[in-house]
Formats: sequence, C-alpha cells, structure tokens
Amino acid sequence: MRFPAVLIKVSDCTSRVPVLLSFQAHGIFSRLQAKPQRECDSSYLLWTIRLFRNGNARSSFGIAFDIDGVILRGQVPVGGSPQALGRLYDDSGATKVPFLFLTNGGGVPESRRAIELSGLLGVNILPSQVVQGHSPFRNLLNRYEYELIVATGKGEPAVVMSEYGFKKVLSLEEYASYFENIDPVSQYKKWTTCDLATKARQHEMFEPDYDIFSEKVRAAFVVSDPVDWGRDIQVLCDILKSGGLPDKHYGDQPALYFAADDLEYQAAFPTKRLGVGAFRIALECIFNRIHNKPLQYTSYGKPNPFVFKNAETILRKIQLNDKNEDAQSHSFETIYMIGDNPPVDIKGAKQAGHPWFSILTRTGVFRGKDNDPDFPADRVVDTVEEAVEYILQRECCL
Ligand SMILES: [Mg+2]
Repeated sequence: MRFPAVLIKVSDCTSRVPVLLSFQAHGIFSRLQAKPQRECDSSYLLWTIRLFRNGNARSSFGIAFDIDGVILRGQVPVGGSPQALGRLYDDSGATKVPFLFLTNGGGVPESRRAIELSGLLGVNILPSQVVQGHSPFRNLLNRYEYELIVATGKGEPAVVMSEYGFKKVLSLEEYASYFENIDPVSQYKKWTTCDLATKARQHEMFEPDYDIFSEKVRAAFVVSDPVDWGRDIQVLCDILKSGGLPDKHYGDQPALYFAADDLEYQAAFPTKRLGVGAFRIALECIFNRIHNKPLQYTSYGKPNPFVFKNAETILRKIQLNDKNEDAQSHSFETIYMIGDNPPVDIKGAKQAGHPWFSILTRTGVFRGKDNDPDFPADRVVDTVEEAVEYILQRECCL
C-alpha cells in the first residue's frame, strides 16, 4: 500500500536511501517504508511512504514471468532464473512478492506444470501461479460442458480439457482414429503405425457412451503446438467444413479456439521455432481455399488485453493468499511483465496499460542491442536475474 507522497525536510532526514521506520497507528499498521523520489528544492526531498499491515504485508507490486526464452529454454533454466525466483521468497519459503507465470505455452494441466517448474527451478510453485495459454478455456465450460469437443496439441490436450471439467472431450488423434483412412498418409508415419495395436486396444477398453459417427463436434481447441500438422489440418478442415461430422456435408462451422497466436517462439534450438500462430495461418490459408466461407476462430493468449486483466486478478488473489477478501479491494501500483517476445509480451503489457510495466530480456526471441523498434519495452535487460534485481531496487526491497 503506497500513500501519497510527502515532503520531508532534508535536515530532518538526511539519508537518501530507502529507510524502514517502525510505528503504530490504531494497531493497523506495523511498518513504514520510505524512499526519496526527487529533490524539490535545496532543503526538501519528495518521499513516498508505504505502509504495511500488521502480519499481512501487502506488496504494491507484482511480477508476471513469461517462461519460454525467459525462465527456460526447452527444459533448461536460463538467465539465472532459479536465483532470480529464489529472491522472491523469504527464509521460511513464503513468497515475499506476489508473482505468477504468464505463458502462451501449455499442453499439460496447470497442477502438473507447477510440479515441473518447481523441480526445474528449485522453488515451490503453486498451480494458481501458472497461467497457460489454454487456462482461459475453462471459462467456456458452461457453453461446452456436455458437448462433444476435440482438442489437439503437444502434451495431453484432452486431459487438460477434462481437468477443466469438459465431460465429452477427445484428442484429435483419438477422434481421427475412429475414421478409417481419414489421414491418407498415416501408414508412412512410423510413430503412429507402430502404435495401431495399442490404439485398437484403447478403443475396446474406452467405448464412449455416444455415437462418434452421428454426434457432431461442437468445438475444436488447439491447446498447444500441434505435433502432426498434416493430420491436424486435414481433420480440422473435415470437422469445420462439414459442420462437425467429417464425412458429411452440412451445417455451420463449429467453433474453433486457439490457446495462443505466437508466430514464433524460443525453444531449445538456437533459432526461433514456428508456434501456434504459424499453425493457425497454415490452417486458415488452406481452409479458405477449399471452403466457400472464411474460417471463423478465436485466439487467446498474450498479447490479448484480457489475458493481462485476468493475470492482474489472479495476482490479487495470490496477494490475498486466498483469504476470504474481495480481490478487487486490492490494487497494484505496478505489475511487471518480464518477457522475451516484443509482439507478444511487450505489446500485450503496453496495450494493457496501467499498472503494467514491461521488461524485455535478451535470452529468447529478442536479441537486439538496444530496444525493440516496433514494440519498445519500458526497460531492456540481459537476463531475468537482472530484471528482478532492477525491480527490487526500484521498489526499494533491497
Ligand atoms: Mg517467450
């Protein structure tokens, strides 16, 4: 909580470094932090005062970390990320600063991603601190909870959607396996042909209580980067063109949702890789050539402003530690977005406006010497460790 700036006479308080003072006011506050902002005239400094509640310190700032190219490259931490995150915890292991991961990636449930990140980074990450590109799909539950939907992408897209509560969900791979010859080159794909016996057994064990061949697919979800672009484009075109049943020809296009729209992203390979946005372009180009109506779709993920609004709400809840308080009652003065991708992370934070402050690292997509010319960040640093150092200094936490 930061109170209005106050003037303190230099002769009364000569130090220009942040100071902590103890005081008691109506038993509500226990700690006061002050830092000099600027000199107003020869004898006065403008100070800002921050008060902390007894036993319930609230931070006036929060941090959102992108993952790929900032925290990890592939499965390897980069930019001193374990050290950077370690600075956000106190000796007891409790977080000193509310933070979350805001990534367009995904493919596994948030609970599992939190365990993976905890192991890789050596700190305790909670599922509530992991916001993936597909996390907002759970908000579509009331629309498709009992409808047949398909989900595609690396990892376990159908498991992700099932965990959100969708009752009738199949992976696109599983769905396609019911339709003989739907992928005319499947016999050349060694990674699928060797698994045909397993698939046949799975069909015997898991027999849906609805008829795949008469039940229309109501929505298709691209949860993460598709693995088999050729098959997915073919089967999605079949579903979307036909109105929800691949070998029929009627009906309006079912809904189509993408978890993100990144054209490229930084993975383990030295140069950028094609992302979900590249897949969307490929699908859209082909669909629009073979169908008389243009593809209709909705893309989630950064830089969409609602993603940043949602992240702000989640940070408020993290700040309140899930106590039974109204998350809207607390607001941050600053939320730092630390990202590596100018048109995704920096553009998004800029569009979101106050209280977002963008920091661009050089460990991923962006490698420039200066700032990005198209989407300049508020601050450019080499690594996430440097970004956290800058934030803690700026917020007088050192
Ligand atoms: Mg990134």
